[in-house]
Amino acid sequence: MMNTVNISDLKLGVIAGGQLGKMLSLAAANWDIETYVLDTDKTCPAAKSCSCFIEGDYLSYDDVYRFGKQVDLLTFEIENVNIEALKQLQKEGLSIFPKPESLELIKDKGLQKLFYQENGQPTAAFQLYDSKAAILKAIQQKEILFPFVQKLRTGGYDGRGVAIIRSEDKLENLLDGPSLIETCVDIEKEIAVIVARNESGNVKCFPVVEMEFNASANLVEKLIFPASLSKSITDEAEEIATSIVDQLNFVGLLAVELFVDKSNRVWVNEVAPRPHNSGHHTIEGVITSQYEQLLRAILNFPLGSTAIKMPCVMINLLGEPGFHGKVKYEGLNETLAIEGVKVHLYGKKETRPFRKMGHVTILANSIEEASKKADLVKDRLKVKS
Ligand code: ADP
Repeated sequence: MMNTVNISDLKLGVIAGGQLGKMLSLAAANWDIETYVLDTDKTCPAAKSCSCFIEGDYLSYDDVYRFGKQVDLLTFEIENVNIEALKQLQKEGLSIFPKPESLELIKDKGLQKLFYQENGQPTAAFQLYDSKAAILKAIQQKEILFPFVQKLRTGGYDGRGVAIIRSEDKLENLLDGPSLIETCVDIEKEIAVIVARNESGNVKCFPVVEMEFNASANLVEKLIFPASLSKSITDEAEEIATSIVDQLNFVGLLAVELFVDKSNRVWVNEVAPRPHNSGHHTIEGVITSQYEQLLRAILNFPLGSTAIKMPCVMINLLGEPGFHGKVKYEGLNETLAIEGVKVHLYGKKETRPFRKMGHVTILANSIEEASKKADLVKDRLKVKS
């Protein structure tokens, strides 16, 4: 349907203008698509790279509705969006991908887990609880055993909203609010498969990537691409991702986060219905970037090749601890002297400890070489104030 639209006249609405919105608008510009970005902050990363910035709150019904009325096709780069406005816009005929129904299910981790359970996806055993008090009661009644993981059903991101409670004396870390409690997986590796599905139902996975987390910030610190895992494990991860998008009848880009446990079993952790941090490396490391793939999926074009161009390591550029305020990048010159280094600065004006300020992808002939260079980049490039 969208293919009958003259692409040069197409106005693509992107809800939220963080780094993902910025990189999406840059990819859209390659096809001469105009991007309209809605964000509360007029200095957000995408404000300069989009065609038209609209100031507004993505949680406000009126702001989202009015924004939707100005565009031909709508997508989002965050989950925290006013769903009622999206549903009304869809009812009035606007193409919104991923569909508001998919977003509604995914943004509630409880509904997401029930979906995996109902569809036979391998996921850690869980129970849903309404409050901290209900969880404490279930612990008393030995319904919940240590260690366990608590996740707030909505509103969490980047590890906020997740508490790993190993023993009774750590109960002070319990969060309050409707939650899911799940068993701890004995994690060997955290991996991700980004998968695209277009309206015709064609599906394509990006090769499996490994994610290493920064323990103090609970943020992805490093991506290793491709993952060093056996083919049977990567095949299994891709099969899980493919079956999830089919079961959801999903259109767009879905980032599927999985665990490989110490017995080499693969578990689905959670999904995000948008471009993802675990796909940063696709800009330089894969024939088609996650952003181009998202555009192909939502415009119902053929999906692009996900063949690997070169092995790479991606590191997030986080605000250096101890520095707040107007951003300064230290060591850019020394970093750019290293061959194969691609620096992305998001353009956030203010730095804070562990804030995602940019990322660097290091391409090399082997993961070992890329990892060595990544260590050099980490030593040289610092975000300070
Ligand atoms: P977020 O939405 O904040 O990214 P996640 O569900 O990805 O939350 O959880 C954050 C991190 O917590 C994961 O990357 C993983 O390291 C750890 N974690 C989550 N679930 C489990 C689990 N069942 N067992 C062990 N560790 C877990």
